[in-house]
Amino acid sequence: MGAEMLKRLHDKNSLKERIIQYDLAKNSKWKSYDATDCDFPELSEDQLRDLTFGIFQLRQAKSYVAEHLEKEKSSSASPGAKNFFVELCDEQPDIVRVKYQSRFTNAKTRISYIQFDENKKQPIVCCYCTCSAGSRTIGCCSHSAATLWYLGYQRHLITPSYVQTSEKYFDHVEASQKYSAYSSSSEEDMKYTLGHRTDSDGSDISQ
Ligand SMILES: [Zn+2]
Repeated sequence: MGAEMLKRLHDKNSLKERIIQYDLAKNSKWKSYDATDCDFPELSEDQLRDLTFGIFQLRQAKSYVAEHLEKEKSSSASPGAKNFFVELCDEQPDIVRVKYQSRFTNAKTRISYIQFDENKKQPIVCCYCTCSAGSRTIGCCSHSAATLWYLGYQRHLITPSYVQTSEKYFDHVEASQKYSAYSSSSEEDMKYTLGHRTDSDGSDISQ
């Protein structure tokens, strides 16, 4: 862990502070839109990997996206269409939030907020979520990982089978992270995911 990371470890979550300052937790500040109406920056796989550093709940993130899509599908005007709904606030155009509501009634709704700036090389400024891991400033929680992955990456891929692609990407990330335990070289990492990955079915490498 480098000095920069150690420094960041003790940073306050600036987005959380902004949400408090401008009272952004209020639902009345936000309106629901389809993800296609949101100008979220496109992220490369490398950028995603950097942002989700330390995430070990990637399967969870994937299931949040699938559940969010499925939920909206049933209420969509066009049956079969898969909408991903986001919430935007007129006063704060550089923040998007996504409500993850579980179909299980005893599970709490979690709200993931992402602040972005398309003019920056790393366009994700800060992530905050209402879950217990949501304030971390290194990496992010599974909800924020799900938002980043869907808005920044997945929806830009033109493919009819989103599920297949998403599983492939998450397996790729999990494999790289597992492999990172043995080697910190990203080149080795890539070799592993491109070459050896297909040799096994790779199931259940997370807990
Ligand atoms: Zn969260």
